[in-house]
Amino acid sequence: MQLDNIRIVLVNTSHPGNIGGVARAMKNMGLRRLYLVEPRQFPDEQAQWRAASAADILEGAVVTASLAEAIDDCQFVVGTSARERRIPWPLLDARQCAARMAVHSAREQVAVLFGREDRGLTNEELKRCNLHLHIPTSADYSSLNLAMAVQVVCYELRMLLDAPALPARDDAQWDAPFASQQNMERFYVHLEETLVDLEFLDPAAPRQLMARLRRLYSRVRLDEMELNILRGILTETRKWVGRARGGGA
Ligand code: SAH
Repeated sequence: MQLDNIRIVLVNTSHPGNIGGVARAMKNMGLRRLYLVEPRQFPDEQAQWRAASAADILEGAVVTASLAEAIDDCQFVVGTSARERRIPWPLLDARQCAARMAVHSAREQVAVLFGREDRGLTNEELKRCNLHLHIPTSADYSSLNLAMAVQVVCYELRMLLDAPALPARDDAQWDAPFASQQNMERFYVHLEETLVDLEFLDPAAPRQLMARLRRLYSRVRLDEMELNILRGILTETRKWVGRARGGGA
């Protein structure tokens, strides 16, 4: 496992105190890479105060204007959520999920996304993730404080540092790197355009088609070579549709 290949991404955090609490939780557990997507208030004195001796994590935090900027280069993305969402996604508890992250972090960039204090992550954000992570709680109250949720996840990663052996990778000898978030997002745009062209997808009534296709591809995890093949097929498909529309072929 490479803790430095795992980044904590906080989306739209409202309270700077929570950002400080997250920095401290990370430093305690040996994680260093903090990304802040459009924080409401940062830098801030309350963040400094709550961070205590983890001021260096705050100083090194990368502030971005969009989620894409924070995770474009990642090959494995985990979304955390306190409750069930409309389309079920592969869901693991913090311990199981940490094991997956630990394995991927050996060779890939891994991101764990944490949501807003009041609303969590949006469905759009959760759809960008390979896996969803849930911290088991009492049925009465499932929503942890943001920094505490980060603490639990970082603790589970920490425990794996001393684990005798992580599960073996079944893709250790893979011949191509896994696709980055950025390339997957480009693929989904291309796929959607092609399905609209084909009139398989009606933009006026898209239902959950793209969400289901996202879930399919993120479950498989494409490598860059497979992604290029699929994009080639899409390009040819669009050409044929264009020709057919033009009254040709
Ligand atoms: N009301 C929000 C909860 C926000 S709590 C909701 O329903 O989603 C703020 C963030 O802390 C969440 O977005 C998530 O990243 C994390 N979090 C809180 N409780 C969690 C839990 N039980 N499991 C996983 N993440 C949790």
